[in-house]
Formats: sequence, structure tokens, C-alpha cells
Amino acid sequence: DKEYVGFATLPNQVHRKSVKKGFAFTLMVAGESGLGKSTLVNSLFLTDLYKDRKMPHAEERIAQTVEITKHVVAIEEKGVKLRLTIVDTPGFGDAVNNTESWRAIVDYIDQQFEQYFRDESGLNRKNIQDNRVHCCLYFISPFGRGLRPIDVEFMRMLHEKVNIVPVLAKADSLTPAEVRKMKKKICQDIERFNIRIYQFPECESDEEEDSKLQHEELKESVPFAVIGSNIQVECQGRRFRGRQYPWGLVEVENPGHSDFLKLRNILVRTHMQDLKEVTRETHYENYRAQCIQNMTQ
Ligand code: GDP
Ligand code: MG
Repeated sequence: DKEYVGFATLPNQVHRKSVKKGFAFTLMVAGESGLGKSTLVNSLFLTDLYKDRKMPHAEERIAQTVEITKHVVAIEEKGVKLRLTIVDTPGFGDAVNNTESWRAIVDYIDQQFEQYFRDESGLNRKNIQDNRVHCCLYFISPFGRGLRPIDVEFMRMLHEKVNIVPVLAKADSLTPAEVRKMKKKICQDIERFNIRIYQFPECESDEEEDSKLQHEELKESVPFAVIGSNIQVECQGRRFRGRQYPWGLVEVENPGHSDFLKLRNILVRTHMQDLKEVTRETHYENYRAQCIQNMTQ
């Protein structure tokens, strides 16, 4: 059903025990301001939560993000609980000195590790609340020619701390051919500048052809071209989230128009557990090792 975010299939990925406790996942968005970060997370999850509320026809104004803000939402679908934390960050580009806005983001990620590290060494180890950032959607402008120096610098500051999933913002401003070209250029830049983005786990050799194909398709979709919108448009008796233009309508959830659905599936259905595992086993372990080293020096 389209109305669902879709995480009810999560129990298939994990043990029953954690199903009872529910899931916790933290997603961060980062990148230049005005690229649609706040709008997209709203489209991805939040407006789904308020589906009973009548959506206004006019664009629902989202205030500009001026500091790191955390939204925690507890959602339940088909008896499965998810505690979703969204960390929205102010975009750089507005500030005269961009170093400030990175610092705050990097510090935020470190602080969550630090808190976890402290809790883990404390007495109440069984009930730690995991606020570590499991994934960071990094927004890339559709108006440039690939990555800009500021993107490179920022992603390199983040890549050892968090799973970066790059997205090509406001894909509706490009033609399909331009989207393909931009994706290719961005991937080349990511490689050229040694940026380590999140890698989708390789399929086991004995897995079905189907999932291998899916895996290939996912890899080729990076960076995910997304479109966000907080308004519902109506067309031929159907209501959907989209954007209206003189020349026609763009549907956010139409796979022919953007990778929005693919991205949401990755986050809440297929790869949430892997994103958490990589956070725990790689990013957090790095942090921990560093801490212990500093303590013994
Ligand atoms: P943020 O600064 O990155 O959080 O960007 P916002 O979410 O505040 O969006 C900035 C502006 O871009 C708003 O006017 C949005 O309505 C608009 N916007 C957001 N997403 C899209 C998109 O996918 N396509 C287009 N064309 N406009 C968008
Ligand atoms: Mg914002």
C-alpha cells in the first residue's frame, strides 16, 4: 500500500527479540542550503505520519534550518515499532565562513559516539539508547558540474564517521539525459577524490539472480536522484505528492521521475540493518579505538 513507509518488513532482517523492543534509526541530512533537505525528509517520512491531517493545497512552508535540529518520531506499522530520529542540519553556503557549519555537524556525530561510549562503560548497559547517526544523506546541487570543492572537503570530513549516501537534489530541474550525465560525473569525482561513500553489501554467490540484479541496479542508481515536495497535487481523480509545472506534473513517488522510492526502500526496508551494522562495526569502532588510544597516552 502506498500509504506505508514500509518498515514492517524489518522483522525479516533481524531476530524476534529486537522486534519486541522496536527499532531505532537515525538519519542525518547535510549539504548546501536550499537543496531541499528539509522538504525531502518530510516527504520521506514525516508527512506520512500525518496522513490523517488534511494537506493544504498551498506549499507548506518549512522554516529555514538555522541550527542542527533533531526530530524524533515513533511510528508503528503493522505492529512493528520504529523510533526514527531525523537530524536536520543548516546548509552551508549562507555563512561567510563555512568551516563553522561543518564543525557543528562533525561535532554532533562525535558527541553521539561519545555518549554511547560513556553509556557502554556505565552501569546500565542493557538499556542504552542508541543515538549514533546511522546514515547521512549528502545533497549535491543539480546546477553544478559534479562535486564542488566544498562538497569534496565536507564529504571527506564525514566519511570516516558516518555512512554517506549521496543524493542528487532537485532532480526535476534536469532532463533524464542530464540526470544520467550528472550521476556519472559525480561518481567519477567520488572516485577521483577518494571519497568513501556507503557501499551496498555484495550479494552472496549462491543468492538468486534477482537479488544480484537488484544489487547492480542499486549501485548504478548512486547518487540517487530525488525530488521532494510537501504538497499534494490532484490529477484525474488521483492525489499524490508532487510538483506542478506549466508543462506538467512531477510525481515524487513515480520511479520514472525519481529514485525517491528506491532511496526510501533502502533506508527503511532493505538496508537499515546493514547501515546500523557498519556504523557499529566500522565507524563506532574507529571512534572507540581512538578514545582508548587517547586514554592510554
Ligand atoms: P534545505 O535548505 O536544503 O532544507 O531546503 P528546503 O527543504 O528548505 O527547500 C528549499 C526550497 O526548495 C523550497 O522552496 C522547496 O519548496 C524547494 N524544493 C525542495 N525540494 C525540491 C525539489 O525536489 N525540486 C524543486 N524544484 N524544488 C524543491
Ligand atoms: Mg533545511
